[in-house]
Amino acid sequence: MMGDGLVAIRPPSRGLPRPAVPNLRDMDRERLGQWLAQRVPGPSFRATQIFEWLHRHRAASLEDMSNVSRADRAALAERAGLERLAVDLVQRASDGTRKLRLRTPDGHAIESVLIPNEGRGLTQCVSSMVGCSLTCRFCATATLGFTRNLATWEIVDQVYQAQDLLEREAQQSGERFTPRITNLVFMGMGEPLHNYQQVRRALAILTDERGAAIAGRRITVSSAGLVPAIRRFGREGLHQEVGLAISLNASDDRTRDQVMPINTRWPIAELLAAVRELPPNRRRQVTFEYVLLAGVNDSPQDARRLGDLLGDLGGMLNVIPFNPHPGAPFDRPTPARVQQFVQQCRRRDLPVHVRTPRGDDIAAACGQLALEDRR
Ligand code: SF4
Repeated sequence: MMGDGLVAIRPPSRGLPRPAVPNLRDMDRERLGQWLAQRVPGPSFRATQIFEWLHRHRAASLEDMSNVSRADRAALAERAGLERLAVDLVQRASDGTRKLRLRTPDGHAIESVLIPNEGRGLTQCVSSMVGCSLTCRFCATATLGFTRNLATWEIVDQVYQAQDLLEREAQQSGERFTPRITNLVFMGMGEPLHNYQQVRRALAILTDERGAAIAGRRITVSSAGLVPAIRRFGREGLHQEVGLAISLNASDDRTRDQVMPINTRWPIAELLAAVRELPPNRRRQVTFEYVLLAGVNDSPQDARRLGDLLGDLGGMLNVIPFNPHPGAPFDRPTPARVQQFVQQCRRRDLPVHVRTPRGDDIAAACGQLALEDRR
């Protein structure tokens, strides 16, 4: 069933690329204002103007910034960059899911997925690392290993590239309205809380009312269980602004140690203790992700233990039938088994939502496209 021996939890020792000049999209509005004051002095309202060009209008070049003076644009061109990701592959599934493979300036492949909502708009799943610093056994990204963290601009540009793609598609098909990205989940490649600073700044940029203005309540950051970072997330008030999802995937430490080696460092009791420390008014909004693996974590005993573990927390349990990918040591449970598991959880008063597998006819498991790129 599972591989032999536990894999060590590797800290993200390799940081970020160091470009010769900073990327303007790397700065939140406050930081941009400070940077401009030092490097290109001028009126303070200019920071908001430039921020709007970058994050609301998704300007491709400094030349587009028509209300910024020619002299300022020339000064900016000498001192800063506007590099972007490149879209090198788009896969479309029959259910409307689109998977994007994006290329960083130093040549790495990362992934982002667009999933149509049941109502209007789309949810985008964004990446926070090239590869991942953790080693969850059910995950295709884990087999890539960790290459580096993504810079803030590389996180936010995934959203802008995807919105640009939707606009191009709408133009080509003659649609009057372009569908909008309304929800974000940080559940793509990488453990977002292992790249805390960059993710935090990306959240500040993406929720800024002068930029993309995505509502914080429509954003969820997922963690595999990095306890110190979850505590920091609560302490710094991020949990008041965006949702938190915990990738749980087992109901006992023995199974979780094997499915998610991070559990050997921070076992379930410690992880749930960190969740209980979050402000009480927000604790209920934590969701627990549970990838259902046939014969591993889908028994009636698992449902009973989950009831005991999570009953008092009141958060939603998101059951995700495993999305098989080549070489994965697990299988997806049958629909009947999934239903049975869900009923058993509900009998224990757990609010459960089953996430329908999306994009089954494309390489939908997180990390698959990046893996194919390396073959
Ligand atoms: S599930 Fe998430 S945290 Fe775990 S290895 Fe995959 S990308 Fe990393």
